[in-house]
Amino acid sequence: MSAQTQRRDEPARHRLKTGAEFKETLRDGRALWVNGSRIATVFDDPALSAGVDLVASMFDDQFDPAFADATTYVDCGVTYSRSWQVPRTKEDLADRRKMIEYTSLKTAGTFGRPPDLAPAIAVGLLAHLPAFKAKKSLIEGCDPDFAENIEAYVAFGRDNNLTASESLTGPQNDRSSPKGAEASLLKVKSVEKGGIRVSGAKTVGSISAQANEIFFTNLGGIRETPAEACIWASVPIASEGIRLISREMVSHPGADPFDHPVAALGEEADQLIIFDDVFVPKDRIFNLGDPTAMSWYGPVCVFAHWHVLTRLAVKAELFVGAGQLVLDVLGTGHIPAVQGMLGEIIQYAQTLRAFVTAAEAMAKPTAGEVMAPDVGMLTAGRLYSIEHYPRIIHILQELCGQGLVMRFGKKAFENPDIGHYLRDLLPGKGVSAEVKEQLMNFVWDMTASSLAGRVALFENVNASPAPRLRERLYNEVKRERFVQQVKTLAHID
Ligand SMILES: Cc1cc2nc3c(=O)[nH]c(=O)nc-3n(C[C@H](O)[C@H](O)[C@H](O)COP(=O)(O)OP(=O)(O)OC[C@H]3O[C@@H](n4cnc5c(N)ncnc54)[C@H](O)[C@@H]3O)c2cc1C
Repeated sequence: MSAQTQRRDEPARHRLKTGAEFKETLRDGRALWVNGSRIATVFDDPALSAGVDLVASMFDDQFDPAFADATTYVDCGVTYSRSWQVPRTKEDLADRRKMIEYTSLKTAGTFGRPPDLAPAIAVGLLAHLPAFKAKKSLIEGCDPDFAENIEAYVAFGRDNNLTASESLTGPQNDRSSPKGAEASLLKVKSVEKGGIRVSGAKTVGSISAQANEIFFTNLGGIRETPAEACIWASVPIASEGIRLISREMVSHPGADPFDHPVAALGEEADQLIIFDDVFVPKDRIFNLGDPTAMSWYGPVCVFAHWHVLTRLAVKAELFVGAGQLVLDVLGTGHIPAVQGMLGEIIQYAQTLRAFVTAAEAMAKPTAGEVMAPDVGMLTAGRLYSIEHYPRIIHILQELCGQGLVMRFGKKAFENPDIGHYLRDLLPGKGVSAEVKEQLMNFVWDMTASSLAGRVALFENVNASPAPRLRERLYNEVKRERFVQQVKTLAHID
């Protein structure tokens, strides 16, 4: 057992928020637009509000003994959220994974940026503290101590049970135009006492409207990023000058859970985030002006990418569970071809688990003494996961046949004029027509609803599209040993 989990005192001092306390932090005057109109608070949009309720329930679960181990850890007698846990050993990694599995199950994998994802990026910076310690600001007049700031930020997040979003990508425009590339960058506009002012925009900052902070950079690997755009930093979402423009909502908040068991839970929204002369305090800056820090995207995001892969593994297991139930309810499990289809979903789930397990087994301590999962296994696993995702969705739908479309809703079952027809004509094997429909409604929400459509698009690109992942494999996976093996066998000197 690791040092971080040994001392679970009862009752321990804690640095946790309840769901109600978390919700209160979102009443901070943040500037938010949905469907083209400014809304006063995040609670004024039903889909965003339902999403907040779901996140708030995760805060409450921290106090529930049934979830305490998954969601919290104890350090020196104080209980903290696992979101901010810094894994120092492989056992810590396994413990931290419990939180990822918990948030993934809680949202049925539909929140790609649950409250514990963005903290994983802050932890990623901490993992490479010596590298950031060695860097100096190249913007005159502002000279933050990056290493000190990173350590303080992780402690701040942990002590305040903070939620954060992250936005690394720039807005999409003409990718062939240098002007477009410039416009996609968030840049330092001026330096003033105590910090800098930045302008520009970040894009697809999932969950920003429902979180406390935004953690940002301009996605690494950009060649010749100008010094004023070389920045890693974090600010509160309610900072003056930040405007959040939400995409259209895709869930079914307020729907009867019978009809939409997943889509009724609301959603994490994606936002275009405008920065108009936003003040970034000096102590929230983790890099400034140094282009060499921008290529740290891969190493810094390794914990976030481990999160992404683990969530997909959990979701794949939900697909297996749903597929098995479909076979049971339709009575198709005896058909070899049907068994083969479910076998393919099982293969997907087992493979993703294997990648997660391998990435943790091959984890190594970083220069900052944080235990980091193996990036080659993560990237290969993530590539496999997104390449096969559309096929797995298709197979699950195929298993359902007409049932996935012929869903009538709770009100139809309750209507005395027609409900009895549905009950008489549509029962499954050993289950009522209602139960069969509940299962189909779950599969619909997970694979075919507008929420599922957004999630599928999200899975495909949220942490780099497949072509970039292949490029990363080429650049990051060491293969000298394999080359040497071939040379030996082929008698090549
Ligand atoms: C729903 C959703 C939520 C997201 N949430 C977040 C978030 O919370 N935080 C965040 O930082 N980002 C988020 N992302 C953004 C994600 O990081 C980007 O979509 C991704 O990096 C791809 O960039 P792009 O969409 O700008 O594609 P573009 O650069 O516009 O390119 C379009 C396509 O061209 C191809 N392509 C372009 N350039 C290359 C290249 N160099 N090599 C190979 N292929 C290439 C790819 O197929 C790519 O998908 C989210 C995206 C979506 C759809």
